[in-house]
Amino acid sequence: MILQLPTEKIPIQEIPANKTIKLFIKREDLIHHQISGNKYWKLFFNINNYLAKKPKKPYIITFGGAFSNHISAVSAIGNLAGIPTLGIIRGEELKNKWRDNPTLLYAKRNGMNLQFVTREEYRHKEKLTEFLQNEFPEALIIPEGGTNKEALEGVKMMLNDETKDFDYLCTAVGTGGTIAGISKYCEDNQKVIGFKAVDDASLENKILELTLKKNFNLIDSCFGGYGKIKDENIRFINDFKDDYGIPLEPIYTGKMMQKIFELIDENYFPENSRVLCFHTGGLQGIEGANLLLEKQNRNLII
Ligand SMILES: *Cc1c(COP(=O)(O)O)cnc(C)c1O
Repeated sequence: MILQLPTEKIPIQEIPANKTIKLFIKREDLIHHQISGNKYWKLFFNINNYLAKKPKKPYIITFGGAFSNHISAVSAIGNLAGIPTLGIIRGEELKNKWRDNPTLLYAKRNGMNLQFVTREEYRHKEKLTEFLQNEFPEALIIPEGGTNKEALEGVKMMLNDETKDFDYLCTAVGTGGTIAGISKYCEDNQKVIGFKAVDDASLENKILELTLKKNFNLIDSCFGGYGKIKDENIRFINDFKDDYGIPLEPIYTGKMMQKIFELIDENYFPENSRVLCFHTGGLQGIEGANLLLEKQNRNLII
């Protein structure tokens, strides 16, 4: 199996931020040095099941944006397994600029072929998928962000006896696969909160279709939009690392933790609640974010 179960327990660390509730973070970012956090788990069964079928000419195709943690992870798997990969990347304008983008450069160095499509083409990914599956019948085509039914089975592995001990389970939300898996497999008495990094009104239904349970709440935490980084976000991430020694990235986990701190201040959580956040990884994105911030003469993420 190319993706293995971890041999060591994923640590759960306390964040002594507040006296009225107990706040913890589960460090899924530490699962693998190249395939980070929730992407590892979402790809776990997708990839292992595909390779178990022993395809004659394995080929993995997937989709993502310019800074995508998912693209980064799939390219690393391709490299480790010696399997060719194709990344369909949103934004034709990147065609001649991918060398300036650390995520795309990394993917390329892992041997991933990159194909750049317009935003309009990208929006119609189903059409592209159909076309590609006809062209490459044996290929594994993984949807954007790795979100599908098999992803949920992998996310289940983020839950264990220790995570049962919490009243709230918190995760950042992009395409919704991670929260759907947590919602589906957590205990009946646990509440799930999703911190939306994307302003997408259809997310709730997408998640419901996957989990079939209504034990989750979505809270907006996109701070001005997906991928937008405000100075207050940078300050928060840098302070958080200073105070607790835990790095966060600016697209998902940084915004989630910042919002959780706001909720704590507003007494959103009843006294003595036990709150667990999942650190879903994605730290590879910091380098690309810093390049943009540098161009704008702004403070960087340390
Ligand atoms: C992809 C990603 C998410 C969002 O996960 P979804 O399953 O797409 O909702 C959250 N955090 C990080 C760090 C990610 O890379």
